[in-house]
Amino acid sequence: MTSSPEQLCSDDLLDFDRSHLWHPYTSIDHPLPVYPVASADGVRLRLRDGRELIDGMASWWSVIHGYNHPVLTRALQDQAGKLAHVMFGGLTHEPAVELGRLLVQLAPVGLDRVFFCDSGSVAVEVAMKMAVQYWHALGRPEKNRFLTIKSGYHGDTFHAMSVCDPVTGMHQLYRGILPEQFFAERPECGFYDTWNPRDIASFSRLIVEQHDEICAVILEPIVQGAGGMRFYHPEYLRQVRRLCDEHGVLLIADEIATGFGRSGRFFACEHAAVSPDIMCLGKALTGGYMTLAAVLATAEVGHVISSGNPGVFMHGPTFMANPLACTVAAASIRLLIESDWQGQVRRIEQQLRQGLAPCRAMDHVQDVRTLGAIGVVELQQPVVLAEIQQRFVERGVWVRPFGRLVYVMPAYCMGDADLHTLTSAICQVVGMEAKK
Ligand SMILES: *Cc1c(COP(=O)(O)O)cnc(C)c1O
Repeated sequence: MTSSPEQLCSDDLLDFDRSHLWHPYTSIDHPLPVYPVASADGVRLRLRDGRELIDGMASWWSVIHGYNHPVLTRALQDQAGKLAHVMFGGLTHEPAVELGRLLVQLAPVGLDRVFFCDSGSVAVEVAMKMAVQYWHALGRPEKNRFLTIKSGYHGDTFHAMSVCDPVTGMHQLYRGILPEQFFAERPECGFYDTWNPRDIASFSRLIVEQHDEICAVILEPIVQGAGGMRFYHPEYLRQVRRLCDEHGVLLIADEIATGFGRSGRFFACEHAAVSPDIMCLGKALTGGYMTLAAVLATAEVGHVISSGNPGVFMHGPTFMANPLACTVAAASIRLLIESDWQGQVRRIEQQLRQGLAPCRAMDHVQDVRTLGAIGVVELQQPVVLAEIQQRFVERGVWVRPFGRLVYVMPAYCMGDADLHTLTSAICQVVGMEAKK
């Protein structure tokens, strides 16, 4: 057998990867197959062997404008020639100020103090530290625990993990070193259901009984992402805001997955017309070009923290407000607000709803749901990842299920024909799961 240099090279690449590189949530000794990507353009990933895949994942919510967008690539290149990085201690620059200005202008009312950091998990750590420092400054240091809801996901660092769902977040693995937080039952009323006031009972009881120990509530507004891909009722969020106000507890909205239009509103909090005290942004912030996150807080949170001891907010990452990341984020946001993203997201929602509907009739499917540019097929049994992944690749699409969930959140620019290919592949592959 002869093999081309390209293939030899791919084998070397895969060999090294298999022996040395950790992938997300994988075993280093028994790795799952990975597919080498050579390049990507628009909604297509190009594999090294020349195959093209229509990308349903937008690289985990982030690539909202598609890959290699000429405007974003150019913005990054231009900035790289001027200032790729400079420390943010004692120095500032135009990309940070411009991005800050855009975020303050677009954020829910009152959120006008901005802290830049490197990733979603770190943004969650920063938000949680802000809440702790806030109550410390007010002379209430015993208010240092968090209330959240089950089925949530907030990241993989320790304090972020402590507010992830206790079961899927594997809390028993870290017992004794993970801070213990309060968990309300997850909302059962779906986004489109009739509101049932009993849905808030567990949350309400916890905040009434424990508010003396609680500094903040942290939750994902409307869309619970990696913890279960669930869409809950806006009234739940309104009630949470009301209860936080009544009981002297801050509200942290983790919009890392939902921010920048994904749920059909610019921020998911807008579905309930709620303004949090602190908001975390990440994922789509740079259009998927670079890692960057931001934490927005109200002026009041900022003032109180600054009035306490030591009078400063105790956080300062090395790569804070990296100019490359801020530049591409500002360019991505400008692209978004100058586009008809509402129309695009509505069109995708419509297509996903129609395209995934055949799955509803399948006995082994528990639920099919869509909101904004998010489509979810929930099975009754967990999938075998390596097997189902291969079936999707064979059909020319990139879909990465986890557990019982097959879900997509495509770039907003995905055309109708590609959406059709994507949803048809999902229906076929999900259909094959029945025959096991
Ligand atoms: C992805 C995610 C995070 C963590 O972000 P990373 O950049 O992976 O650290 C936190 N919260 C939510 C809601 C997320 O979806």
